[in-house]
Amino acid sequence: MTDPLAPLRSVAGARAAAGMRRTLRPRSVDDSVLDLASNDYLGLARDPRVTEAAAAAAKAWGAGATGSRLVTGSTVGHHDLEDALAGFIGTDAGLVFSSGYLANLGAVTALAGPGTLIVSDAQNHASLVDGCRLARGEVVVTPHRDVAAVEAALTGRSTDSSSAAPALVVTDSVFSVDGDLAPLADLHAVVRRHGALLLVDDAHGLGVVGEGGRGAVHAAGLAGEPDVVVTVTLSKSLGAQGGAVLGDPVVIEHLVNTARAFIFDTGLAPAAVAAAAAALEVLRAQPQLAASVRSGAERLARTLAAGGLRVTEPSGAVVSVLVGEPGRALDGAARLLEAGLRVGCFRPPSVPDDVSRLRLTARADLTDADLDRAAKAVLGVLAEV
Ligand code: PMP
Repeated sequence: MTDPLAPLRSVAGARAAAGMRRTLRPRSVDDSVLDLASNDYLGLARDPRVTEAAAAAAKAWGAGATGSRLVTGSTVGHHDLEDALAGFIGTDAGLVFSSGYLANLGAVTALAGPGTLIVSDAQNHASLVDGCRLARGEVVVTPHRDVAAVEAALTGRSTDSSSAAPALVVTDSVFSVDGDLAPLADLHAVVRRHGALLLVDDAHGLGVVGEGGRGAVHAAGLAGEPDVVVTVTLSKSLGAQGGAVLGDPVVIEHLVNTARAFIFDTGLAPAAVAAAAAALEVLRAQPQLAASVRSGAERLARTLAAGGLRVTEPSGAVVSVLVGEPGRALDGAARLLEAGLRVGCFRPPSVPDDVSRLRLTARADLTDADLDRAAKAVLGVLAEV
């Protein structure tokens, strides 16, 4: 028998040789590493108010949602969370999905059928990119944060009147690799001029950007506009799991009826629903958490830049250090872990420009001393690798 896995072994070899192999490293529950890789921006994943709400919901409702949302998987908790998220961000309705990835997949495919022009920023998150690939419309990828290119794409679109589908512009709010902000107000002005829809993935904005962490869409004054659809994840600032789409009730009704990633997926587990709802309550009660993440990220960026590193300017929690070769980034991250600091390591194809990065995220529960210790360790290790 010829080896049926030979093609996979061959690409695995090439991947390892290029320093691009990815491996899983299990965390232990008592892990004492200083963690600047997690997305738990507000430090709520282990907050007792959140974990106890999750445990109580699991006891009351069971471990799983028992079915898709349209069959048995909608608990009152799902609906309460949808109302709470919509109210917090400033939209009239919301819909909880079982992940942020599926919220993006579901929203893009449901809002952009055949005949829809989709205009997508070159640095959008993979879940938006995959939504574009699955939606059977025409996709135009525009250069990063280029509003004029978006306008040109919309201007050049087919005026075929048989297509009732409007154009859809999709963008991250805070981009996940470098933490920079999309020009949301300008994009919205263009979208409005062309009668299109704007879908903004506020995964990294919720809990961090804007007044009390209401997100980048709220901060741009766009929440509640009928032509703006917001997606979020419950797995970053809210420390839980799941995702949501927030927008006009007409949009939400459309998703309930047409978004395959919603219809054919088991509802989010009640424990995750309760955890996200409890975390949102904490954020409402302690709005200063958002500002403290941002100031932590600024402190990190300042210290790293003062040490001579090329770092991105943070708009939220993310600070990226531009390192260059994937092997150097990998080596740097491994040495930092040995020294007790976990950072993210982003390499191609997850980086837009082939420049590998160490990616650090500030958290509201880190002290200035933690952040300074982390910056010092990064400076020390990058001087050696
Ligand atoms: N959008 C962005 C910008 C993200 O960074 C992520 C998480 N990596 C997602 C969507 C997906 O969210 P989730 O992890 O909840 O599936």
